[in-house]
Amino acid sequence: MVVKVASKSLIALESIKKSYQQPNGQEITILENISLELKPGEIVALLGPSGSGKSTLMRIIAGLITPTQGKVLYHNRPLVGLNPGVAIVFQSFALYPWLTVLENVELGLKAKGVMASERRYKALQMIDVIGLDGFENAYPKELSGGMRQRVGFARALAVEPELLCMDEPFSALDVLTAENLRFELLDLWLEKRIPTKSVLIVTHGIEEAVILADRIIVLGRNPGRIRADLTVTLPHYRDRKSSSFQALVDQVYKIITNPELENVEQAAVAPQSTETQPRKYPPLPAVRIGSIAGLLELLEDRQGDLYRLGQELQLEVDDILPIVDAAQLMKLVNLREGDITLTEVGQQFVSSGIDERKAIVRNQLLSNLFLIQQITNLLQVKRNQRIQEELILDILEAHFSPEEAERQLKTAIDWGRYAEIYSYDEPAGEIFLESINND
Ligand code: ADP
Ligand code: MG
Repeated sequence: MVVKVASKSLIALESIKKSYQQPNGQEITILENISLELKPGEIVALLGPSGSGKSTLMRIIAGLITPTQGKVLYHNRPLVGLNPGVAIVFQSFALYPWLTVLENVELGLKAKGVMASERRYKALQMIDVIGLDGFENAYPKELSGGMRQRVGFARALAVEPELLCMDEPFSALDVLTAENLRFELLDLWLEKRIPTKSVLIVTHGIEEAVILADRIIVLGRNPGRIRADLTVTLPHYRDRKSSSFQALVDQVYKIITNPELENVEQAAVAPQSTETQPRKYPPLPAVRIGSIAGLLELLEDRQGDLYRLGQELQLEVDDILPIVDAAQLMKLVNLREGDITLTEVGQQFVSSGIDERKAIVRNQLLSNLFLIQQITNLLQVKRNQRIQEELILDILEAHFSPEEAERQLKTAIDWGRYAEIYSYDEPAGEIFLESINND
């Protein structure tokens, strides 16, 4: 008789929430209601736009950050402190410049209290596996980026982690080096030459996720939450040009670019309580009006699939989505299921000259963005028509982290200046209305 045993859980997250307390006492939620289980034998990609909490979630799994609410289970038992089964590869390589390759690789083993002779043996073995043979005594500065990241991999793998966590490990490398290393890693995994049971890769690249992962978890922003958890059944090695590959990339792209889908899913999974009212201060993406204009101009003669557009322009989601977000906030484009089109106003923008464009943006900002309306109102009631930027920062810090509040203010100033709604006196840190009565 065959007894079916439920597959073992390596790490499980139960209703994780992570929030930070602001200096003014206000709480900012970074991650909300995250439940997921990682099992042996899978490569999981954690995919999402920047700021969606991917790194935070990975650090929670590694035990580097404690969640505000919810549980982390490691082999079904609550995790306390650092996760002993996890090793991390960082985007920045994070090597010690004064240590040789061998010494850097030995570090993790040393931290685990492995004896010197065994440490050396294991480190050398992993150096061999990862293709660093002959570089044992080199220092990081003598190595190319690709070789440095190999050291990062060797160091993480030498401790034989159950879960290898990688935070955008290929992002700092040039395209070819990244692709090489990606496939080498995949080789090692598929051939079972690396001693790890599971891999978690944080990425903002859809194609990277679809190339590598057995499962793709899509995170959304504000606050970060799981929007989709997809199983990928395409056999390795996957051909980027095949229609099944493209179809999956498209599907993921649609999820990422379609906020309506999210509502459907949320409704199905967990009916929202009171949190559905629209945000008073929708986050302004930190993009220049010039980029938005550029996007709109491109759309004029190639409306349609945003993913194809990105490909054509060789832009990654992370590059193009903030621009699309901004254009959407100003109601210059419509986005439906990954298809992007100009609105009537957007169309008008494209066919206008510079002054008319400014007037259009002015109108869109004043009718759609509360922050900009609020700044304008404050300016109008002040007799000298000037306000200190600190005032706006204080207001924003009730809704954003201090750095994000700064970014929001900067964007609001940039956009408002472009549209000639107000000006900015940088040395004084003041926003002001140009005197209108100088005819
Ligand atoms: P990702 O890796 O997806 O880009 P992160 O996990 O790095 O996202 O960050 C998610 C959000 O949490 C960001 O908006 C970031 O500013 C915020 N954040 C991260 N760490 C802190 C912190 N210590 N205090 C306040 N906000 C934070
Ligand atoms: Mg990150």
